[in-house]
Amino acid sequence: EPVYLNGQFLPLAAAGVSPLDRGFLYGDGVYEVIPVYSRQPFRIDEHLARLQATLAGIRLANPLTVDAWKSVIFRLIADAPWDDQSIYLQVTRGADDKRDHAFPPASVTPTAFAFAGPLVTPSAAVRAAGVAAITVADQRWARCDLKVISLLANVLARQQAVEQGCAEALLIRDGFMKEGAASNIFVVKDGRLLAPPKTQLMLPGITYDVIVDLAQVHGQPLEIREIAETELRAADEVWMTSSTKEVLAITTLDGAPVGNGKPGPLGERMWQWYQDFKNTVMRK
Ligand code: PMP
Repeated sequence: EPVYLNGQFLPLAAAGVSPLDRGFLYGDGVYEVIPVYSRQPFRIDEHLARLQATLAGIRLANPLTVDAWKSVIFRLIADAPWDDQSIYLQVTRGADDKRDHAFPPASVTPTAFAFAGPLVTPSAAVRAAGVAAITVADQRWARCDLKVISLLANVLARQQAVEQGCAEALLIRDGFMKEGAASNIFVVKDGRLLAPPKTQLMLPGITYDVIVDLAQVHGQPLEIREIAETELRAADEVWMTSSTKEVLAITTLDGAPVGNGKPGPLGERMWQWYQDFKNTVMRK
């Protein structure tokens, strides 16, 4: 299946980027991941709006209009063999002919890249058991609200989790749990759902917004406020949420059971509400 690079659709093996591309040299770029169910993108407008917000945050003009991105995305979806997909978009500040930290001249054009892969959401067996996670110090920069490709702190945190047999690393800054290395985190305590607020120290997840809306629609008590590490450890339920994991229970944290060590009832309900919501917005 073809990939998209700078206005062209071509085989992956034929898609080349300069080694002087600023994405390669500096991690100077942004990205998005959009889930596709039954060949229909989910929350595409929200993902493209977040892409625009991140581009504005790094002062890079969007090389494509929203409609142009949509036609790229729909062509990738149509040409891919899978019904459920994940569409990756990336824009970097392009390749200059010399290396300099400051922005390149206006003649340098951004590099725009997109490709489709299969979407593999957690299996029923994984959901029934939940996953293990660790806590680590949040060593990222101060603009975690931007979905930038400079992901080294996230990479190191997730690798530490994997080396300890865990699926995710929960990031702790100044005594508060901000999010996961590649997910947002929700906590349940005494029947109340808690979520950290959207600040510059957390990625505003598209799934996070859906979960918050679903809690409100279903009358689920919800508090959006900072979650102390101590509250995280005393939680009845902890979930990770993302476009590819959807809603997944964390049942072990730093080797200790979360609540009774099994996925909790509110998380199971929220997973079902999420499926129902997806099915109502997706045309059959
Ligand atoms: N936080 C971080 C750091 C992430 O990388 C992701 C995954 N993109 C998320 C949260 C979840 O975001 P979304 O629900 O938009 O996939």
